[in-house]
Amino acid sequence: MLELEKPVQTIKGIGPKTSEMMNRIDIFSIKDLLMHFPRKYEDWNFTKPVSSLSDGDETAVRGRVYLIDNSKYTSGGKHITRVLLKNDTGFISGVWFNQKYIGKNFKPGEEYIFYGRVSCIYGDKQIINPEYEKVCRDMKNRIVPVYSLTKNLSQKLIRNAILNILNSDENIMDEIMPSDILKRYGLTGINQALSNIHFPGSFHELNEAQKRLKFDELLILQLGLMMERNKIEGYKGISFKISKELKNFISALPFQLTNAQKRVVNEILNDMKSDKQMNRLIQGDVGSGKTVVAQIALFNAVKNGYQAAFMAPTEILAMQHFESLVSLFAGYDICIKLLSGSQSKNKKDEIKYELKAGKIDIIVGTHALIENDVEFRNLGLVITDEQHRFGVRQRALLNQKGDKPDILVMTATPIPRTMALFIYGDLDVSIIDELPPGRKKVETYVVSPAMRRRIYNFVKSEVQKGRQAYVVCPIIDDSDTLDIESAINTAEKLKKDYLKGIRIGLVHGRLKSEDKDDMLLKFKNGEIDVLVSTTVIEVGIDVPNASVIVVESADRFGLSELHQLRGRVGRGKYKSYCILIADMENEISKERMKIISKTSDGFKISEKDLRLRGTGEFFGVRQHGLPELKIANLFEDINILRETNKLARELVKSGRIYYDEEYSMLRNITGNKFKICDNSITL
Ligand code: ADP
Ligand code: MG
Repeated sequence: MLELEKPVQTIKGIGPKTSEMMNRIDIFSIKDLLMHFPRKYEDWNFTKPVSSLSDGDETAVRGRVYLIDNSKYTSGGKHITRVLLKNDTGFISGVWFNQKYIGKNFKPGEEYIFYGRVSCIYGDKQIINPEYEKVCRDMKNRIVPVYSLTKNLSQKLIRNAILNILNSDENIMDEIMPSDILKRYGLTGINQALSNIHFPGSFHELNEAQKRLKFDELLILQLGLMMERNKIEGYKGISFKISKELKNFISALPFQLTNAQKRVVNEILNDMKSDKQMNRLIQGDVGSGKTVVAQIALFNAVKNGYQAAFMAPTEILAMQHFESLVSLFAGYDICIKLLSGSQSKNKKDEIKYELKAGKIDIIVGTHALIENDVEFRNLGLVITDEQHRFGVRQRALLNQKGDKPDILVMTATPIPRTMALFIYGDLDVSIIDELPPGRKKVETYVVSPAMRRRIYNFVKSEVQKGRQAYVVCPIIDDSDTLDIESAINTAEKLKKDYLKGIRIGLVHGRLKSEDKDDMLLKFKNGEIDVLVSTTVIEVGIDVPNASVIVVESADRFGLSELHQLRGRVGRGKYKSYCILIADMENEISKERMKIISKTSDGFKISEKDLRLRGTGEFFGVRQHGLPELKIANLFEDINILRETNKLARELVKSGRIYYDEEYSMLRNITGNKFKICDNSITL
């Protein structure tokens, strides 16, 4: 058996330099390299006749060298090497520019394969910059893996290194799946799958390998989610009444609920009435009005004589919720308190005492609420806002502070309903798919860095009108390997040059939480005009006077993240703008920036993002606290997702995943994966 955890440098042919390059793309161990799956495959089928090839085809051709021409130049002065291949079906040439010596690699009469994109010029067929290989005896059609690389790594190098691993031992890895599962789902063994994902003998083999590896990934994802919740059947919980005052409370709201809000309120109240424990997720776009729905549920719980807890991911957000509850519930005889990390110990102790004694009806706070010594008299409802910021475990802790309290979680990072069913497993899902009337659209522009000065002149003019602006950067500090705008550097540049004389603040995740809150508060109170930040402002902050958000290196953000950021403006009566500064180097960034500038619906954005990028970003640790998927795509592989969902459910329900020896490998791997990501959840 191979020692998979050994560093890549122990592979034949990989020295310290190469291993350092590999480290840059997160390949450290032999296993990492093995799990570096190809980005795509080239079909080196070289049996197609030359006459059948047309402009733009990507293909392989096989032929003998008929002519090597090294004598020509383009009109622009570039040297041209042309190698003409001939076979029974015609002629085709390979063309290279400014590579004078490449002609020496070929000899007339010898047989070669070229691979690349065909272009037809005046009836002549050629491939510019083809990959090439000398034909050896009994060479067959092949499928060649193409890997994502970094500078100084070549396809050849990675291919050879992986071939070396695969050839070193038949048994690369222990089989993690019990044999009856393999049989039942018709899955290839793990060793064959790993070998075929890199060097498949046919497209059929490739499909089988992909299916197997996707199955593993999705099964582990589903198992992890279900084991952590360990909750498939609803528990018996509290059966609330619909309080008599609720109707009056709703009609006294400062606005009419939208139809979507009404529908979701009904779904929640039905859950509250039922004696099953409520376990519901509310998905709604930024600004769709989730808060008031939560407030209605809180009101009803309190009027039934229960306590309720409202947990938010940041102090600022908790404070916002607290203030809004206090003003909305004024006159209803409800005691609301805020528990915050920055309060004095005495103050906190006092609140904890009152909470335990049942003197407080609603407690609002951050993760301070899940600390051990926070106790309730009769907790009946738990609401968590922006749930993707909390780990599953942290939420579970809060839930344990009562006896099967009803649970409501809210998220502004919506995902399509079909997928929500799998990702949120046992949660029921409610969707607010309508914005309150009269919302103004935030005008979104994508501009190149060359426009920077014009953009900041525009920001200046907005500030002079009395507005405020956010400037968001993807990283805190400059790093030497990446060419990305950092918050610290941008703040400097704005102070010294672009926005000289304007009051500029800076917040980022490395600041102490008091300093962070202090700065956010200053911005909220208008003591600062422009706030430079990392994504710490992403969730929920509400400053109606802010009318512009500029995002630097915007192509570095996830689409849903950008959409959240955009939701920070357009919250007041002012016309608002979102300006994305992006280097549009590749097609995918261009497409992504087009989506965000043309679409204002968070659901559509997340769906398009999924289609475009598979899963990585959206279901990454950052957004949901889940392990990254390397090969499965939740969108395209919905059928495998469905199968693994059913299987995981079965294994958890029967308990086999917990005690059956056959499942011990799967159990351990799942445990490890989920522990790892639990530590990296941002709070
Ligand atoms: P989010 O879903 O992003 O949490 P909020 O609950 O903060 O959105 O609501 C955004 C704004 O819309 C708030 O100022 C809120 O008072 C307002 N709002 C919510 N529902 C309605 C409604 N039905 N009609 C008008 N305004 C509403
Ligand atoms: Mg909100």
